[in-house]
Amino acid sequence: MKFVSTTSTGSHRSFREAVLGNLPDDGGLYYPTEIPQLDQGLLKQIPQLRLPEIALEVLAKFCSDDINPNKLEQITERVFDFPLPLKEVSDNIHCLELFHGPTFAFKDIGAKFLAACLAHFNQSENKETTVLVATSGDTGGAVANGFLGVEGVRVIILYPKGKVSNLQEKQLTTLGQNITALEIEGTFDDCQNLVKRAFADKQLNKDIHLSSANSINIARWLPQSLFYYVPLQQGYEDVTVSVPSGNYGNLTSGVLAMKMGVPISKFIAASNANDVVPRYLNSGKYEPKSTIPTLANAMDVSDPSNYKRLLKLFDGKYEGIISKLLPFSLGDIEIKETIRDCYEANRYWLDPHSAIAYKALHEMKKGGIFLGTAHYCKFLPTINEALGREVAIPDFAKGLMHMEKRSIELNADFAQFKEFLIG
Ligand SMILES: *Cc1c(COP(=O)(O)O)cnc(C)c1O
Repeated sequence: MKFVSTTSTGSHRSFREAVLGNLPDDGGLYYPTEIPQLDQGLLKQIPQLRLPEIALEVLAKFCSDDINPNKLEQITERVFDFPLPLKEVSDNIHCLELFHGPTFAFKDIGAKFLAACLAHFNQSENKETTVLVATSGDTGGAVANGFLGVEGVRVIILYPKGKVSNLQEKQLTTLGQNITALEIEGTFDDCQNLVKRAFADKQLNKDIHLSSANSINIARWLPQSLFYYVPLQQGYEDVTVSVPSGNYGNLTSGVLAMKMGVPISKFIAASNANDVVPRYLNSGKYEPKSTIPTLANAMDVSDPSNYKRLLKLFDGKYEGIISKLLPFSLGDIEIKETIRDCYEANRYWLDPHSAIAYKALHEMKKGGIFLGTAHYCKFLPTINEALGREVAIPDFAKGLMHMEKRSIELNADFAQFKEFLIG
C-alpha cells in the first residue's frame, strides 16, 4: 500500500516514509492510495477474534510492505492490550469505553501504535531522537506514555503551570524514565509556540534530532479505525455511532472502517461550541470561525485537519457525507446538565467530551453507541461543578495521586528552553 497527500499531488510514499514524514509538504494529509476491502470471510469471523487479531488483519493491509507479519503481530498485541468494553448506560444506549489505557483516553491507542512504528523504523539509526509534545493536559500524556521506556527516544512534555487538573498533572509528571515534564509559566499557546519555534530553529535541528508525534500522523489515524470493529465483534450490526469530535481523527477513522466493509448505519458528528462540521452538514458551507474555549477542551478545534480526509473518504461529495453523518453540538451549560442528568438517571459518569456524544443519542431518541473518549476522573473539577459537590477520585486512580510529581519549571522563554534541550 502506498500513501499520497489528500491534495493528490506529489509522489506516492511508502508507509515508512509517510510515518516518518508526518505531513506532506503541500498542506495536505497522508491518505492511502486506495481503500482496501475486507473479505466476507474475515467479516464473518470477527465475533470470534480478539481485537489485536483483528488489528493485525486490518493494519497489515496498510503497512505490510514495511513491517513484517511477526513484528506487526508483536506491535498489535502490545498496542491493543487493554479492554475496550461496551457498557449499557440507559435503554438502547451503550458506551464504548475507550479510556482504560495508561492515560485514560482513547488517544492511547493511536499514540502507542505511532510510538511502536517510530521505534521500529528508528532501530537502524543510532542518534537519539527527542520528541516534543505540548499539552493542555488531556492529550500529551498519551504520546509520552507510548514512548515510555523506548530506547533511543527522549520525550519532553510541556504543560502550562496551574492550568491542568491534579490528576492530569500527576499523569504527566510521574512517568520518569525517558520522559521529562516541563512546567511552563504561561498558557497552552505559550507551550505550543516553544515547540513550534524549536522545530523552526535551524541550529537546534543540527544539534539534536527532533521529532513530533503529530496527531494527524497516518500511524495515529489508522489504528483508531479498530474501535469501530468492536460493536460488530460484540454482535451489533448497522448501529449509529456518536463520536465526540474536535480534530475529526476519530470519526474519520470510523468512516474508513465503514468504507472497508464494517456495517455502520450512521455517524453523529458530536461537537462542542466549535461546531464548524455540524454547520457544514446543515448548510453545505465549510466556514471556520475562531476557536472558543469550552469544558470539552480536547475538542476545541475550529478548523479540523481531518476535514480533508473526510472529503477524500466521500470523493468530495457533500450528498455522500450527509447521507452518513448527522450534525450535533452542545454548549457548556448543557454539557454540565448532561453529566448531572446521566448520573442521576443511570448512575453513570460521563466526562465532558463523552457527555456531548451521549446527549446526541438521547436527544435524537436513537439507540446506538457513543464513544467514551476519556475517563471522567481526568475532569473532576468540571464533574464537581456539574454535581455541585465533591466527587471522589475512583480507587484505581488513587495510587497515582500519591506519586511524587517531578517537573522542571521554566519561563515561556525560547532561549531558556533551547538551552535546556541542548543540555
Ligand atoms: C482528542 C479528543 C477528542 C477529539 O478527537 P478527534 O479525533 O480530535 O476528533 C475527544 N475526546 C477526548 C477526550 C479527546 O482527548
